[in-house]
Amino acid sequence: MHFNSRYSALPAKLYHHQQPLALKGAKAGHFNAALADELQWSEADKAAWVEICSGQKTFAEFEPLAMVYAGHQFGQWAGQLGDGRGLLIAQIIDKNGQTVDLHLKGAGSTPYSRMGDGRAVLRSVIREYLAGHALNALGIPSSNAVGFTSSTQGVQREKLELGAMMLRTSDCHIRLGHFEWINQYQPALLPEFTQKCIEWHYPQCLAAEQPVLAFAAQVIQRTAVMIAKWQLAGFAHGVMNTDNLNITGSTLDFGPYGFMERFRPNWINNHSDYQGRYTYQQQPSIGHWNLWTWLNNLIPLCPAGDDKAQWKEDLAKCLEQFEPAFLEHYTLGLCQKMGLPSFHKDSFDCAMAFLRVLQSEQLDYTQSFIRLQNKQYELIKDDCLDLRQFEAFLTQYHGIRGLQDTAELDAAMAKANPRYILRNHMAQKAIELAERDDFSEVERLFQLLRQPYAPQPDLERESDLAPLPGDQPEVAVSCSS
Ligand code: AMP
Ligand code: MG
Repeated sequence: MHFNSRYSALPAKLYHHQQPLALKGAKAGHFNAALADELQWSEADKAAWVEICSGQKTFAEFEPLAMVYAGHQFGQWAGQLGDGRGLLIAQIIDKNGQTVDLHLKGAGSTPYSRMGDGRAVLRSVIREYLAGHALNALGIPSSNAVGFTSSTQGVQREKLELGAMMLRTSDCHIRLGHFEWINQYQPALLPEFTQKCIEWHYPQCLAAEQPVLAFAAQVIQRTAVMIAKWQLAGFAHGVMNTDNLNITGSTLDFGPYGFMERFRPNWINNHSDYQGRYTYQQQPSIGHWNLWTWLNNLIPLCPAGDDKAQWKEDLAKCLEQFEPAFLEHYTLGLCQKMGLPSFHKDSFDCAMAFLRVLQSEQLDYTQSFIRLQNKQYELIKDDCLDLRQFEAFLTQYHGIRGLQDTAELDAAMAKANPRYILRNHMAQKAIELAERDDFSEVERLFQLLRQPYAPQPDLERESDLAPLPGDQPEVAVSCSS
């Protein structure tokens, strides 16, 4: 590994150094060897992956630390939070020269654990491990993981479960909530911290007339694009609190996430979200709300001598770019999924007509786009009750496509429509086997989700392609992890 141990150069108030606390009976779960190669792990590092991913081996080049941050949870100020069960154990340079954080999740309690036990259970580790892998393969910026380990140690949740650890990777573990903590508790650190964020993650902004404004605009842009990609893939993050969004617009801390099956815009996968704050369709507006909350923490950075009211206005102007950035990316992506030309004035309207069919007929989001791509219109129609609604859509669809050279549109469709997503029931099957020490289903899903756009007849099962039948109960995903 090539280290770039930069976080601990920040003022010591921003973290707490401590070593991971290993679990009893740590044992191999799954290892992402391709990612380890990208991260320039040596053969010796790879051979020691179980020790590294279970907190038994740390590195002389980096003293592990828990970060402190704060946040708004479910719309309410939650005060101080922080890494309550994870440690940054290294920052290393990957093959492309980018610095990547290695964060060991489930590594024991820290000063920021509050009432928690500092642990993660095998169930939630597998869900996060496979989803990070799936998101990356879908081209959605996200954390990933080099590997996870299981153990023989019981960890109490609603029931007694197995403790586990996961070595998460991300380009950035600095959350919007970091700024909230600093502004609230150590405001004197704000200029230096912001400067480091810009140097590390947005160096191109240093040359701007107002680097802080350029930085804010970039964070907003990247977050908008990330959320547009979630919407296109049918991904619901589940806990879009300000402590769970980072400043580089890569997906992080998705606990009770889900990939949507039957198309329901107000769908919520997190059964602990009683108010329905984080439904699929609310994600863009919640993203906007989070960024607005974050921008308030940049107000004190008004350059000396400048007009504060003007500075606030300039910050607000940055946020005005959120919606156009989101819509541009979402509209383009949706047209690609539909095989419609983005320049045609009726394409978006036609895409909405298709989504209305999916919604009223409760059709599977992923499978329906694949059927559209394969021109299996009859198969979609067979599942519809309101045939007139479907026929009206199809007429409009053919009307637009009929005038175009469809070869190019079809090629775009093939790249925009995954055949495989991580359905809850797929993850659940892998978890149940893993809890009995059988990781074969984790491995199968890992391989399948590595190439979500390519049919893999040797690996795929019929159940990978569709929701569970209506008479089978859905898998309930709770916040507890
Ligand atoms: P989340 O919304 O799941 O990302 O977690 C919110 C906060 O609770 C973070 O500060 C976590 O580190 C902390 N946390 C969650 N679960 C635990 C746990 N089992 N032990 C200690 N801290 C936890
Ligand atoms: Mg979190």
